Amino acid sequence: MKIICIGRNYYSHIKELNNEIPAEPIFFIKPDTALLISNRPFYIPEFSKEIHYEVELILKICKSGKYINEKFALNYYNKIGIGIDFTARDIQRLHQAKGLPWEKSKAFDYSAAVSDFIDKSLLPIDKGIPFSLKLNGITVQEGNSKEMIFSFNQIISYISQFITLRMGDIIFTGTPSGVGQVKIGDELEAFLNGERLLKCKIK
Ligand code: MG
Repeated sequence: MKIICIGRNYYSHIKELNNEIPAEPIFFIKPDTALLISNRPFYIPEFSKEIHYEVELILKICKSGKYINEKFALNYYNKIGIGIDFTARDIQRLHQAKGLPWEKSKAFDYSAAVSDFIDKSLLPIDKGIPFSLKLNGITVQEGNSKEMIFSFNQIISYISQFITLRMGDIIFTGTPSGVGQVKIGDELEAFLNGERLLKCKIK
């Protein structure tokens, strides 16, 4: 399986990092070795001095597809969860300034924390799915799928023009504002539609 992540999909987050609003979805990949499951702790890697959390809605792909039409994209994911896209912001900043790839800052081991998934029929996709992140009990990020620049269907259709999607792939759909640094001893809790689905201790 692979993990495909969308960058810059919420205006509020683009503003806080002083980035440009993209005309098309921006995506990058994390390998399967990036997965962090079952509420396991996240260990701050020694190569970064500034690991950030980014809470994101995540989609589970249920069917192989290439050149997926936006109209049918809904049939290609069956479950939604919540994830944290851990990012070495210091390395990303350096690489961005030099025009280098993001992988070193984004694709490292255990950089993709994922919750259990919920059947999409149980979530208010049309109305908008609220989600949030607490850091040590205080809400630091809040978003709603209706605030996304590119919708779930647009994202799936767009990615599949370049990369075949397969059953089991996971898509991270972007983070709203409020990203910030974690330190040893912190505890993150991520909520999907009001339900706490993910917990992650920082070590
Ligand atoms: Mg992200």
